Amino acid sequence: ATERVGWPGCWGTYHRAMIDLETARARVLQGCRALTPVRVKLGEAAGLVLAEAVVADQLLPPFANTAVDGFAVRAADVVGAGPDQPVELLVVDTIAAGRASTRTLEAGQAMRIMTGAPVPAGADAVVMVEDTSTAGAVEDTSTGLERVRVHRAVRVGDAVRPAGDDVGPGDQLFFPGAVLSAAHVGVLASLGWTDVLAHPRPRLGVISTGDELVVGPAPLGPGQIRDSNRITLLRLVEAAGAIPIDLGLVADDETLIRRAFVDAATHCDGIISSGGVSMGDFDFVKRVLDEVGQMNWMQVAIRPAKPLAFGTIGAIPVFGLPGNPVSSMVSFELFARPGIRRMAGHPDAELVRPTVRATTADALERGPDGKTHFARVVATNVDGRYVVRNAGGQGSHQLAVMATANALVVLGDGPGVGPGEEVDVLLLA
Ligand code: AMP
Ligand code: MG
Repeated sequence: ATERVGWPGCWGTYHRAMIDLETARARVLQGCRALTPVRVKLGEAAGLVLAEAVVADQLLPPFANTAVDGFAVRAADVVGAGPDQPVELLVVDTIAAGRASTRTLEAGQAMRIMTGAPVPAGADAVVMVEDTSTAGAVEDTSTGLERVRVHRAVRVGDAVRPAGDDVGPGDQLFFPGAVLSAAHVGVLASLGWTDVLAHPRPRLGVISTGDELVVGPAPLGPGQIRDSNRITLLRLVEAAGAIPIDLGLVADDETLIRRAFVDAATHCDGIISSGGVSMGDFDFVKRVLDEVGQMNWMQVAIRPAKPLAFGTIGAIPVFGLPGNPVSSMVSFELFARPGIRRMAGHPDAELVRPTVRATTADALERGPDGKTHFARVVATNVDGRYVVRNAGGQGSHQLAVMATANALVVLGDGPGVGPGEEVDVLLLA
């Protein structure tokens, strides 16, 4: 696709090549390598991508244990037991979780046992405490031991969790590329692991450039606006599972900008800047990045977020996102987030966000321009079906609309869609 630059018939009017979204994203992903795996403490590993195969070397559970509080018995002893025909057994031991009985259960005997405690030798089932009674049970006069009345017959294995019921030695549990969840690290802890080989969280520096930008409550001078992209992008970095590093606000000064990028490349795994990538910018970012890095200046056939600079300083990926606040967010979603996921070792980095089908509640208008539009909408799930409502003004400066939106409708080139139509939606939250 191309777009016309300048007014029709005027001198200087030309058609500029745009590249499609997938091509641009492929270039970005090509420049982002999974970070070298490191050993990470288990407590810090959830959310990271596993970089080794996990093979069990032991049984989980490690021993047969009871699933309930009750009495370990021999099923054969309580065959005829019922609510009105209790079977009386001699209680010869009590086994709390964390210890084992040294005795072997004989015919006519039971052992009081707590959930998680090892089922003693000789026992083959556990009767839950609710199916027993001890009140009024005749104490055994010769031994002084208590008796229990069992009111229910059980089968061999009832309420017993066999050793290795979950995991056995040699089981291939997890594979490289798995995203470590709370359950994964729990399993590793069960196996006695204290650390695991995983791709580290990428450290992403975020920089704002522009003489018009200020921070804080002081009244704005002529032409000034407040820097919103930096805080927004830092939080998007964090939400993407990476470590945000605030590189501050840098004035439109070639030396300062060069210093900021070169310095960032020494202590960040990636750099995100916003602004200064569109046409006709009074701009040093472009000059500096072309000088210190290998950049690809792209016009992507999308709206918002058409201009995109992506490249590397050394091996450090640099994302030059457009300055308009909504553009920089959409650009982050479409390019930086997949790149960050690739750096974090996700095998499916190109899967940007869950995409669902939805029905429009109102019109989403656009004009034909050769681009794919991403319309800001509010998506709601009504009885399992998504419905999307126009979130408001679709200008790339309208960040407050973006704040109320939770999804982007993908509008192919053309006149847009009316109410009641089926559309593809990227869910952002
Ligand atoms: P640029 O991409 O530098 O041409 O900027 C496009 C628009 O985004 C201009 O209106 C800028 O003032 C605005 N802009 C650039 N950087 C930021 C920022 N960090 N926060 C808010 N607006 C910005
Ligand atoms: Mg600028």
